[in-house]
Amino acid sequence: MPIYEYECNKCQTVMGFLVLNPSEELTLKCKDCGGDDLKRIVSRFAYHRSESDRLAEFDTSKRQGDEFYKDSRNVGLWAKKRANQLGADLGPEFEEVIEKGRTGKILDDYDL
Ligand SMILES: [Zn+2]
Repeated sequence: MPIYEYECNKCQTVMGFLVLNPSEELTLKCKDCGGDDLKRIVSRFAYHRSESDRLAEFDTSKRQGDEFYKDSRNVGLWAKKRANQLGADLGPEFEEVIEKGRTGKILDDYDL
């Protein structure tokens, strides 16, 4: 569904609109103050992606570059994705291990 988010330049209210046709953008009115000076917020999703979004996009069959693993949030993502694909319920202990892997604490536990 092409739902876009807009911010009203008058009152700064952020609202979502279902926009099927780009020309409809011109007729959009602020739900709050009725103003027609709205700007589309495009980068919002890129900055506020949830873990489930990243999981959905993560392809375990592709090799990830070093850049991928430089983002500590992506550590453990592979394991989670695989687990999801296998339908495994790994429970809170697994989450804990992943979390340790992310923070580097896992090395302490294994006395390396
Ligand atoms: Zn407004």
